[in-house]
Amino acid sequence: MDVAKNRQFSKGGIAIGPPTDGLDAAPDPLFSDVLTLKGVGPRIAEAFARLLVTKAGRPARRLDLLLHMPHGLIDHDLKGDATELIEGERATLDLTIVAHHPPYQRRQPYRVDCLLGDCNLQLVFFQGRRGYLQEQLPIGAQKVISGKLGRYGKGRNQIWQIVHPDLVAAPEAVSGASWLQPVYPSTQGLTQRVLQSRIRTALDDLREAAAELPEWQDPAWLQRRGWPSLADALRQVHVPERPDDIAPTSKARARLAYDELLATQLALSLSRDRSQDRAGVARRGDHRLRRAMIEALPFTLTSAQEQAAIEIGQDLEKPAKMLRLLQGDVGSGKTVVAAIAMLQAIEAGAQAALMAPTDVLVRQHANGLDALLRPTGVTLALLTGRETGAVRRDLIKRLKSGEIQAVVGTHALFQDDVAFKDLGLAVIDEQHRFGVDQRIALADKGPDADVLVMTATPIPRTLVLSFYGDIALSELREKPEGRKPIQTRATPKGKLDQVVEAIGRAIEAGDQVYWICPLVSASDELDLTAAEDRFQSLKEMFGDRVGLVHGQMANAEKDAAMQAFGAGRTRLLVATTVVEVGVDVPDATVMVIEHAERFGLAQLHQLRGRVGRGDRPSSCLLLYADPLGSLARKRLDVMRRTEDGFFIAEEDLKLRGPGEVLGTRQSGAPTFRLADLAVHADLLGAARDDVKLILSRDPELESPRGRAMRLLLRWHDEATAEAYLRSG
Ligand code: ADP
Ligand code: MG
Repeated sequence: MDVAKNRQFSKGGIAIGPPTDGLDAAPDPLFSDVLTLKGVGPRIAEAFARLLVTKAGRPARRLDLLLHMPHGLIDHDLKGDATELIEGERATLDLTIVAHHPPYQRRQPYRVDCLLGDCNLQLVFFQGRRGYLQEQLPIGAQKVISGKLGRYGKGRNQIWQIVHPDLVAAPEAVSGASWLQPVYPSTQGLTQRVLQSRIRTALDDLREAAAELPEWQDPAWLQRRGWPSLADALRQVHVPERPDDIAPTSKARARLAYDELLATQLALSLSRDRSQDRAGVARRGDHRLRRAMIEALPFTLTSAQEQAAIEIGQDLEKPAKMLRLLQGDVGSGKTVVAAIAMLQAIEAGAQAALMAPTDVLVRQHANGLDALLRPTGVTLALLTGRETGAVRRDLIKRLKSGEIQAVVGTHALFQDDVAFKDLGLAVIDEQHRFGVDQRIALADKGPDADVLVMTATPIPRTLVLSFYGDIALSELREKPEGRKPIQTRATPKGKLDQVVEAIGRAIEAGDQVYWICPLVSASDELDLTAAEDRFQSLKEMFGDRVGLVHGQMANAEKDAAMQAFGAGRTRLLVATTVVEVGVDVPDATVMVIEHAERFGLAQLHQLRGRVGRGDRPSSCLLLYADPLGSLARKRLDVMRRTEDGFFIAEEDLKLRGPGEVLGTRQSGAPTFRLADLAVHADLLGAARDDVKLILSRDPELESPRGRAMRLLLRWHDEATAEAYLRSG
């Protein structure tokens, strides 16, 4: 059999993809499942699935493994005494194992005492397996151990610490080692050794096919930047020759980052240009409904709100499709502005929809809009996953007939059987939780619809482009009058007793309190345990006045808990981060955030925005666990210093260093695998311009470069956008 024919890289460089020509086809070096790699069985594949960023539900591909970037190097310069150690850096140490301390409690780590010369050093393993650790680190043994150095404890009791070492080896096993060994972010059940070797295997398999891999980047641009080819770039980061090769600023990393930015800009642009194939509709309106609503408002609009309403109104009047982002901090009054826009569309005879990511938020919006729209007589409906059966059928019928003029809903609005008579405006709250796919689904529901996106937390301008591509921007930088500042303090968790006492006093004085529970890990289950534990202990102190709400509760229970708190029947609400988005209880004036050091800045700000909504002074207490890392300290400082969401958004972007994956995810920023906008922000504009040029010359992506770009889309999981291109 002809081997070349079986490869998935055909001569034109377009046919890469799942094997199609027979059972004996060689595994595709990029798109096939990691299971096709030598040495990868179900157990390792499962660990990969946890570790690698893949689109929900898709098994990890070889490609995903190749795109897993190292975050450090094992240093082969062996250190035998403590004088050379630097906090926060990686080092390889010659250690003697002294004692084992298995945890007393389930959630505590396993600790191992060691000696470095005559200096104490501790190894720390979360969820470490006792038998395995005792075998790997026998007392009295000499071991070479590599990892990131931390300091633990205070003052004279401070000692060096390594949490989850990257390498544990016998001294003879590493002597003479001179190559640079990359260190990767890993997960439980996956050692550095396995990770490294499987990446090497994937890389070697790719090498054979590399010559036929098409180039989607412009050759002149590549040359000007001095960037390597894709295959070379991957080799450089996984088999570095110099420490610089793996730095985010390296040419190899920059090339890979640019690929990713190009793919996302292309996907955004495709989903939009397709929906813009049709000219927009001018929706002018006669102000009748808008006037009725505004006259009935119990307040006057801020000038920022008026300005935003004018900008949106002008877009709606134009016979072109609107794509506009309304940015405003929590409480800046975006809802009224959205309602004005919706009414304009309705005055012009169309329907308007408001979409939000969660049930809780949708219900909140429905209540808010109901109050706002009542004086106008507009028919408003609610559609979420909870409306089922006959109720749902009825809603769908009335949406289709046009009887329902305004609707608020979740993803349920995207479902196939939902159709509008004439969707004129779609307002999307917190769009960053919606992806390109949903945007395409939306374009199907309302091919002529104007789109207004609202964010709950401002996004830095540099990020706006990465979320939305080219988009017009309206900002509410001014808050409604009379808002009281929120007093924010940071307190170590050691003072928990005093905090609980103070909370007790606040409750006695009539305050309502949110108690946000720690983000324990990426796992919901652990978060839940923490929230339940805290709920129990607070309940012992304060009895029935304490409520609990978390994401895994049944909807009815969740509603009941929120309602009890909203109505003041419970005075303290223990919550996981489900309250993060949009919940409005004006009488809540105190917020405690436990393990505040584990939250990202944007999320802290978002949470804090739940208090300070009424006319009473509010406070926010950030409880943290010592020792506080320097980044976490900076985040808490920013929180104490300011309430300005625009400022916080900029700081968030600056502080989020590489490796702060958790922080990135928590902040709601788009999760790029390769691009780090703190480093590669300048490439974003270039990618946008590149995409514009490509699409203007080759809108269906049919030229050789266009074909390669289709591959790039699949490579970065933008398959829906690719499918959107006319086939053939
Ligand atoms: P956002 O969605 O931007 O967080 P909302 O639209 O929910 O903010 O508004 C927050 C609160 O402020 C609501 O109770 C709303 O009625 C009120 N509000 C909005 N605009 C004004 C204004 N111009 N003056 C006073 N209060 C306002
Ligand atoms: Mg809101």
